[in-house]
Amino acid sequence: MYEQNHLIAGLRAASLGREEEVFAHLPDGGKVTFGALFTGAEQMASALEASGVKPGDRVAAQVSKTIETIQLYLGTVMAGAVFLPLNTAYTTSEIAYFIGDANPSLVVCDPARLEDTTAISGEARVLTLDSSGRGSLRDLADAQGGFDPIQRAPWDLAAILYTSGTTGRSKGAMLSHDNLLSNSTVLRDYWHFTDTDVLIHALPIFHTHGLFVATNVALLAGAQVVFLPGFDVDAILDAMPSSTALMGVPTFYTRLLADGRLTKERAANMRLFISGSAPLLVDTHEQWQARTGHRILERYGMTETNMSTSNPYDGDRRAGTVGFPLPGVEARVMADGQEVPVGEIGVLEVRGANVFQGYWQMPEKTAEELREDGWFITGDLARIDADGYVTIVGREKDLIITGGFNVYPKEIESLIDDLPGVLESAVIGVPHPDFGEAVVAIVVPDAAGVDAGAITDALADRLAKFKQPKHVALVQALPRNTMGKVQKKALREEYAGLFG
Ligand code: AMP
Repeated sequence: MYEQNHLIAGLRAASLGREEEVFAHLPDGGKVTFGALFTGAEQMASALEASGVKPGDRVAAQVSKTIETIQLYLGTVMAGAVFLPLNTAYTTSEIAYFIGDANPSLVVCDPARLEDTTAISGEARVLTLDSSGRGSLRDLADAQGGFDPIQRAPWDLAAILYTSGTTGRSKGAMLSHDNLLSNSTVLRDYWHFTDTDVLIHALPIFHTHGLFVATNVALLAGAQVVFLPGFDVDAILDAMPSSTALMGVPTFYTRLLADGRLTKERAANMRLFISGSAPLLVDTHEQWQARTGHRILERYGMTETNMSTSNPYDGDRRAGTVGFPLPGVEARVMADGQEVPVGEIGVLEVRGANVFQGYWQMPEKTAEELREDGWFITGDLARIDADGYVTIVGREKDLIITGGFNVYPKEIESLIDDLPGVLESAVIGVPHPDFGEAVVAIVVPDAAGVDAGAITDALADRLAKFKQPKHVALVQALPRNTMGKVQKKALREEYAGLFG
């Protein structure tokens, strides 16, 4: 029997006896203590119970990033229920799919969407929370007292996060209490987080990065957070002199670099800059080091696995790699049912306490991607070098097969990105009558500028003929989602007709 709520007991341990100390600094100058955070979370748990939420039920939330949303997450877990955060950018018809699939007993939305959300929520009760943390859920919570967290075992579900669903239907990744607690504990220790840290929290909290990596690691360390509603260059630069760590996606770093106020002096109090969720360009890594004196620590993970690899804290942080498998995580690279020799490319598989419990109500999908012996097939192409560093070379579905040859977009993108006048690039395969697929490069020039012919010429003697782009398109920006991932599917659709 488990006497406690596994995740909540873990997240609360570091701040016991420190209830009066500050957890979050809010943009309006307000402060939230650890005591206030957890008391509010208990009131949320009581409010959920009063609304009919039972252990094991799903609580869906499409709400802004506020402390109340963090309390809703913690309160849901305290109530023994399963938290289901939804991207605030999703439309009502997209939300209808998630609600139909997950069948939550409670849906929390912004008051402005109450009518639309109620119309698609069926039997579920609908309550509200707005961008200042007010609404019918908060009113109900304010009227409640304390709450004794419901006992939950390590394997009980704490959250379902839907994958971005770039191919086919979005799938609900089921994450257990221990998936979350074990991974954040490893990250806290690997990245040396303690109660002396002040983390700049500017990531969205409907995604694994901001909700679990940033929030759980800070709570487990008993650290403070500068809680920002979203990415904001001014706010981050203002916070830097009194903060110690930043977790971001690569676009955070490129946007901060574009601001002249980013200097060594401003970053002098910082001890750690972490990047993940999308590949960090080597160029960004180098520029960051030149400007701030810090080497960005890049890590790799996904919704289904939490974090799997990280560059070392003390050792060599190698640009372009995602470091080593984290303690307790195994990684291997497979092709044709076998592990590939060192340095060769294949599909990355990972195994460990970090790996999810399967896809919600999709046993066939789960069986396709999660082997019976615990290895999860990530769908990312990778290689592991002789020193053990993992390099991600792209998604398997982005692999280009042209005239029967495999082309890894990252190899070509890296060469193009190094050319003068280039800011960044995305290489895709589009249908071609002769070759099946043709290599196409979409290139964003930097301020100095570049023309397509110069790129083609520069690649001519550096790449085998079949790898050379058959077309180079210059664009102002690459399409990205909120987590900074380049949307290659959108690019493939846009350029699909290029070769007739
Ligand atoms: P998500 O489930 O939304 O977190 O997306 C996970 C995917 O993001 C992974 O399967 C990778 O394709 C990509 N990803 C995450 N971190 C990195 C990284 N550091 N470098 C390259 N790709 C990454």
